[in-house]
Amino acid sequence: MDLPSPGLPDRLRSAGTRRARDLAARARLGTRRLAPYRPRSELVLPATEVPRAAVPAVDAHNHLGRWLTDGRAWLAPDVPALLARMDELNLAAVVNLDGRPGEELEANLDRYDRAHPGRFATFAHVDWSLLTRGPAGVGAMVAQVERAARAGAAGLKVWKDLGLVQRDASGALVRPDDPRLADVFDAAGEHGLPVLVHIGDPPAFFRPVDRFNERLEELTRHPDWSWHGKGVPTHRELQDAFESLVGAHPGTTFIGAHVAGWAENLQWVSDVLDRHPNLVVDTGARLAELGRQPRAAAAFVRRHADRVLWGSDSFPFEAGAVSRWFRLLETADEAFDYGPEPDQGRWTVSGLDLEPEVLAAVYAGNARRVVPALAR
Ligand SMILES: [Zn+2]
Repeated sequence: MDLPSPGLPDRLRSAGTRRARDLAARARLGTRRLAPYRPRSELVLPATEVPRAAVPAVDAHNHLGRWLTDGRAWLAPDVPALLARMDELNLAAVVNLDGRPGEELEANLDRYDRAHPGRFATFAHVDWSLLTRGPAGVGAMVAQVERAARAGAAGLKVWKDLGLVQRDASGALVRPDDPRLADVFDAAGEHGLPVLVHIGDPPAFFRPVDRFNERLEELTRHPDWSWHGKGVPTHRELQDAFESLVGAHPGTTFIGAHVAGWAENLQWVSDVLDRHPNLVVDTGARLAELGRQPRAAAAFVRRHADRVLWGSDSFPFEAGAVSRWFRLLETADEAFDYGPEPDQGRWTVSGLDLEPEVLAAVYAGNARRVVPALAR
């Protein structure tokens, strides 16, 4: 699933307001009559259940903290139950991207990493709004990185707000490759913290929300996910800014979240991986994208078998959503649903049928190399 765009999140609106707004958007775009249409496939095909990963796996992209609930509740309210579910699924460890800075980082580390060594690796955030304070603010951000490393954070998480929302003192949007932030990314490299970057959003979110948009129905359900006409950089500009960030800091390891932000264009991702040995990618929330181009996706993963980290981004943590990934990666099943609802677009996915050595790297080996804290 994709995170809602910054701004007033859907979950904070009242259900009534949300429903009225959705109905208005559907009426405007003429998707009202399409909404209840749920065709049932007549294909008769094998369906392989894969309840456990082929090897003890590391979910390299997930959310267990309180960041996505605005601090109200832990996304995994019952840690022993989560551990039991991980054991059933053959998950050795989960990367938790919700460390935030300061006390919230400490609370996440206490609850997960320190209480259950080896099972969790929490990444910290940096407070980019400090940039409005000029060079002193940059110094404070570097101090946050140093404090996170000392506390035992496993890496840094950079969200799409850097590029789409965060502004400097002059009111200009700040891109991740802004030279004023260079010390922050160098500090991460010096302290051995990999930096996971969620750049941008799917390209369809930057296009007009019209009858040509492949995610029209999703964008009519979530109009605030669209960036079109909002005065932000284009999808391509953000992708280029991400590459220039990675290229500017060869001593820092970057994890391009969500297949480096462009799962729809695996050739671009492949070229960027070839150009930058300090980059790897995770698969978080891109099952529907990889599975709708199974031959291209399998070729991509095989070519970069040591650079792709499996991550589910399935939260709240749900066994069915995680094991659907196992089916995608391990089987040759064709044309199955990528989720309970076709909420990203009306297509199905097919398995990548990856070999055991590739699976071992993608499920665990790569994450263990890139995130050294998993070994603690
Ligand atoms: Zn995520």
